[in-house]
Amino acid sequence: MTGRPAGIAAIEITVRGVVQGVGFRPFVHRLASRCGLAGWIENTPGSVVLHIEGDPAALSRFRALFGPGIPPAARVTRLSVRKTAPAGLPGFTIRSSRRDGIALSTIPPDIATCPGCLRELADPADRRHRYPFTNCTNCGPRFTIVTSLPYDRERTSMAAFPLCAACRTEYGDPLDRRFHAEPNACPACGPRLSVRGGDGAPVDADDPIGAVARAILAGSIAAIRGLGGFQLAVDATNDDAVRALRQRKHREEKPFAVMFRDVGSVRAAARIHAADEAILRSPRAPVLLAPARARSPLAPSVSAGLPTAGVFLPYTPLHRMLLDRADRPLVMTSGNVTDEPIAIGNEEAMSRLRGVADIFLLHDREVVQRSDDSVVRRVGRGIYPIRRARGFVPAPVTLPRSFPDVAGLGGELKSTFCFIKGDAAYLSQHIGDLEQAPVRDFYEEAYRFFLRFLDARPRAACHDLHPAYFTTAFAERAGAERLFALQHHKAHIYSALAETGFAGKAVGVAFDGTGYGEDGAIWGGEFFAIDGMEVRRAGHLAYFPLPGGDAAVREPWRTALSLLRTTLGAAEAETAARELFPGIPRDSVRLVLGALEKKINVVPTSSAGRLFDAVSAICGVCVRSSYEGQAPMRLEGAAASKASGTYPFTLAESGGQLTVDWSELVLGTVADARGRLPAGKISRRFHDTLAAAIVAAASRLAEGAGARHVVLSGGVFQNVTLLSRVLSGLRKRKLSPLIHRQVPANDGGISLGQAYYAAAQVAGG
Ligand code: ZN
Ligand code: ZN
Ligand code: FE
Repeated sequence: MTGRPAGIAAIEITVRGVVQGVGFRPFVHRLASRCGLAGWIENTPGSVVLHIEGDPAALSRFRALFGPGIPPAARVTRLSVRKTAPAGLPGFTIRSSRRDGIALSTIPPDIATCPGCLRELADPADRRHRYPFTNCTNCGPRFTIVTSLPYDRERTSMAAFPLCAACRTEYGDPLDRRFHAEPNACPACGPRLSVRGGDGAPVDADDPIGAVARAILAGSIAAIRGLGGFQLAVDATNDDAVRALRQRKHREEKPFAVMFRDVGSVRAAARIHAADEAILRSPRAPVLLAPARARSPLAPSVSAGLPTAGVFLPYTPLHRMLLDRADRPLVMTSGNVTDEPIAIGNEEAMSRLRGVADIFLLHDREVVQRSDDSVVRRVGRGIYPIRRARGFVPAPVTLPRSFPDVAGLGGELKSTFCFIKGDAAYLSQHIGDLEQAPVRDFYEEAYRFFLRFLDARPRAACHDLHPAYFTTAFAERAGAERLFALQHHKAHIYSALAETGFAGKAVGVAFDGTGYGEDGAIWGGEFFAIDGMEVRRAGHLAYFPLPGGDAAVREPWRTALSLLRTTLGAAEAETAARELFPGIPRDSVRLVLGALEKKINVVPTSSAGRLFDAVSAICGVCVRSSYEGQAPMRLEGAAASKASGTYPFTLAESGGQLTVDWSELVLGTVADARGRLPAGKISRRFHDTLAAAIVAAASRLAEGAGARHVVLSGGVFQNVTLLSRVLSGLRKRKLSPLIHRQVPANDGGISLGQAYYAAAQVAGG
C-alpha cells in the first residue's frame, strides 16, 4: 500500500500571466477548503501551480467555481489542467515560493482599490476607516514601490514601515485577504499624509485631504503625491483655475485628464457605454478618451477645442477620499512642467513644482518607479492603448513562442523600451519624448532597472534606422552583443505581429507621423507585404515635398502650402493660400514657396500624419499647432457624423510599389474649403476617402499575395474615426483586420516590434 486512497482523484493546474501578488493563493486556499479538497499551491517564476485532490464530485465543483472566481486583478494568459496521481494529502497548504529565477516577471502592475478595501474605507467601525493607504492582496501599489527583487516587503518602499501586530496577523494568515499583501498598512503602522504650502512651509492640518480639497475648490492648484508620482489637481469646472494651470505648466492646449467621483458623474461630461464603464472600473483604471457632451460641467479649457474628454475614476483610497471631499470633477495631470518627467520625490516636487502648485499633499511612502497614468480608447468592446504605464507595466505581452533574450530600444517620441525573455515581452512604462536630458536620464535608469531585474542577457538590441535618435546612440550602451537597425514603420508592423501572434501571409498598413525611410525619404503612409517574419515595403502614399524644421511641425499651413503647390502650381497656390490662411503674412507664404522651389531644407515624404496636418490647415481647423498631433486630432474631432460623399483617389503601380495618389483628394478639399463648405463636412469626406483608399490598396495587395489578413498600426490609427471605417471596409471585402489591443499603435509600441524582429533574427541564426 502506498497510501493512495481509493475513489480519490487529483489534478494539477498551471496558471500563467499576472497571477502573483494579486490574491491568487488565498483564493485557491479558500475554494479548496470550501469544496473539502486537499492539495497545495506554489508560486513559480511566471506562474502558479496548484495540486488539488479529493472526491471526484468535489473536484468537479472546484473546477466549475475556479474560473469565475479568479481574483479580478489577475490576468491569466494561459491555463492548463492535467490529471495527476493523488498523494493522499491531509489538507491544503500554501507552499513557500521557489525563489530561483524570481524576477521582475513576478511583480504585478499597480491595482486600483478593490471593493473590499473601499467598504473598509467607508466603514466608521473599521480600523482602516478613512485610511488613505488601505490595500490588500487584491489591490494597491505594486510596481511603483519596488526597489529591488524578489518582490517582498523588505524590497519595497514599505520597508520603512514595520508592521504592527494586527497587520502582521493579517499578513501571516492564509485565509485573510491580506495574506502576503506586501504593502499592507494601517493608520497605526503605515504611511501618513502631510500638507505643505506653495513655498514648501509645513501647513498644520488635522485633516490633510479636507484642507487640500478646500484649497482646490477655492481655485488653487494642488500637487498630490499619487501612486506613480505627483499629479497636479485643479477644479475641472473652474475655467480660471484650469487656465492658470495651463499657464504655469506651459501646456497651451493639450487636453487634461479629469478624474470623477463615480461613473454617474462621468456620464454628465462624456458619452459612455457599458463597455466604457467596464474599462473605467477595471483594476487598471486607465484614462479613457470618450466623446465629450456638448453641455458638460467641465470648463472649456480642459479639452481646449477637442470634442473628447479624458476621463477616469479614483484608483487609490487617497484619490477616492479627495474626490469625495471635493465632490466635483478634478483635472488630474502629471506633476511636471511640459517635456519633463513626472516628479516622484517630496523634495524634488517642492523644488520642481515651485511656482506651479499652491499647495502640496505629501506622504512618506516613496514612489520608486515613476509611472504616468495610462490612456486608452475603446474600439469595439475592448481597449485600444494610447499610453501604457500605471496599471499595465510590468505585465508582459505573451508571444506565440519562446525566443532568446533581446531588447528593443524604442523611438524618439512617446518612447518605451522592451525586453523579450522566453515567450514574454516586457515593455517599460511610457518614458516620454527623449529630447530633454531629464527624460533621457529616466530612460537610462529604467532601462538598467529592467535589465537587472529581468536578469536579461540580451544577445541583440534593435534600434530605429534614424541616425539622430537618442535610442540609436544609446544602442552602443545597451549591453547587447549584436545590434540591428529596423525601419520605423516596419517596427510598427512587427509590434502588431508580436502581440497578435499572427504568422502567415498578410498585408501591413502603417499610417503614421514620420519615420526615417530606407530610401532616405521620410516615410509614414506605408503598405507592407508580410510573409511570416518577412516584412517588405509594397506601397505607400505618393511622395510630396515636406518643408523641414520645427516650424513645419508647429505650423501645419506650411505642409498644406507644399501640397497646394504640388497640385495647383506655385502661382495658384499663392492665391489659394491667401484665401485659406488669411492670418499668415504674404511674406511668410512666399518664403516657404521659395524654399520649396529651390528645395532648401525640403525632404520627400509619404507621411499620412503630415497629410492630416495639411488638410486640417486647408479646412481651417488648425493652421498653427501647439502640441504634437493637435492638427490631426482637431480634424478628427471636427468630422461630421453624417457622411456626405468622398473625393476621388487613384492607385498606381510603379517599380513594384503600389502608390496611393492623393492629388484629387487634396484638390477636392481645397475646392470645398474655398467654396466655404463647413469644415466638418470636408473632414468627414477626407476621413471616408482616406479609409476607402486604405481599403482599396490593402485589398489589391492582399489579392496579389493570396492573403486574407490586414495588420493595422501606426499613430494615425489612434484616430478611431478613421480606424472604424477601415475596419468595416476591410470586413466588407472579406478581409480580417488585426489591430493593437495590448500596446499603443503609436510610437509607444515600436520597442516591442524592434525586439520581436531582433528575436526572430537571432533565433533564425
Ligand atoms: Zn483591496
Ligand atoms: Zn498596521
Ligand atoms: Fe511612428
